[in-house]
Amino acid sequence: MIDQVHEEYIRRIIEYGAKSEKVRIALSRAIKAFENNRRNALGMFPHTIDMAKEVRKIKEYSIEHMDELVKKACESIERNHGHCYIAKTKEEALRIIGEIVGSGKTVVKSKSLTSEEIHLREYLEERGNEVYETDLGEFIVQLMGTRPTHILAPAINVPREDVAKILSKFMKEKGIIEEDLDEQNIQEMVAVVRKFLRDKFFTADVGINGANALAADTGTMFIIENEGNARLSIGAPPVQIALIGMEKIVPTLEDAFKVTEVTWRYANYTVPAYVNLISGPSKTGDIEKVITYGAHGPRELHVIILDNGRTEMHEKGYDEALYCLRCGTCLYECPIYAVTAGFFGQQYMGGIGAIWDAFTTVGLEKASPIAYTCVRCGKCKVMCPLNIDIPGMIAKLRNDARKEGYVPKIVRDFAAEVEEFIREQK
Ligand code: SF4
Repeated sequence: MIDQVHEEYIRRIIEYGAKSEKVRIALSRAIKAFENNRRNALGMFPHTIDMAKEVRKIKEYSIEHMDELVKKACESIERNHGHCYIAKTKEEALRIIGEIVGSGKTVVKSKSLTSEEIHLREYLEERGNEVYETDLGEFIVQLMGTRPTHILAPAINVPREDVAKILSKFMKEKGIIEEDLDEQNIQEMVAVVRKFLRDKFFTADVGINGANALAADTGTMFIIENEGNARLSIGAPPVQIALIGMEKIVPTLEDAFKVTEVTWRYANYTVPAYVNLISGPSKTGDIEKVITYGAHGPRELHVIILDNGRTEMHEKGYDEALYCLRCGTCLYECPIYAVTAGFFGQQYMGGIGAIWDAFTTVGLEKASPIAYTCVRCGKCKVMCPLNIDIPGMIAKLRNDARKEGYVPKIVRDFAAEVEEFIREQK
């Protein structure tokens, strides 16, 4: 079975990644821009480097006290008149969200890797809902019928010429435009998506979001964004659903601020256009001081805190993977990612993604070929704001895979040749 899994993975990574001229062009443009922007962001705000060390300590404490913090965050959310649910598995999370949304609804979603992890959009669509990704990159990925290939920039592997073609086809069908979009005019592409989604934000029944951090003491979630789509998805519909991995919870509001600042700075922004802080449903006390829920924002807030393998990751000694801020730095630094994009991975991407895929999405057997794709050069660890030991965890994951008999044939053959060579030398 492992050999078949490995062959399929290799075919995919070579065909769609390494051999693709489009991936090469799009990635070389994006990596260059990222490097310049990060140098600029850290140069302007050099305190971020020390703050990252503090954030590592916050994450170490938080993962060690994950269960306690989940409980505390839930109590805070309920105190703020939100509804809090703890989902042990993907299936449980889907059931809870499915029951809240129902069917025949319009749903607007902001970018969330955790929702990708559980295939939330597809699940809600199967239940007869119309679901729109509202982040531009995610929207392009949705129209293409593929999956994101970068943590922050889901359509990073798609050059502008292809984006123009994809949008032209869809927008003409919807009657938004009559002529094809200009392949070089990115401004025009952005404007046409804005026009289409505008109406969806204000007619949607439900808005769905993820979060970059959740403060246990106040129940406040932090959502970093630039496009303004998250605040519209969160703010306009009457019902808001937040799906948040339990590793995102930190003890205090101040901790969450630090996590958020380090995340956006390493994600190469001096400062993002928006940081949304949400602690409960909208309310007013303006008439006789009677608190009434559902003013201009959502009248209901449902927060689903997801385990789905995170506790197991902690129990099996992969704590460092749970520290990940999803800033994307390691992907831009990775020599394998530079030629294969997100095809180096299953649901998550790159070396850090191999650990996440093993525990939260496809399991150890399918994650094993990803672990063997990593060359363990260590560039990711050096550049990671939290100095996460990705190469060390990859070695551990390979060892775990070996114990289960999940070593791909090519690696087994190579190991046998090395053993024979050593024997001959003795
Ligand atoms: S492993 Fe480090 S560099 Fe990579 S996304 Fe996570 S925090 Fe960022």
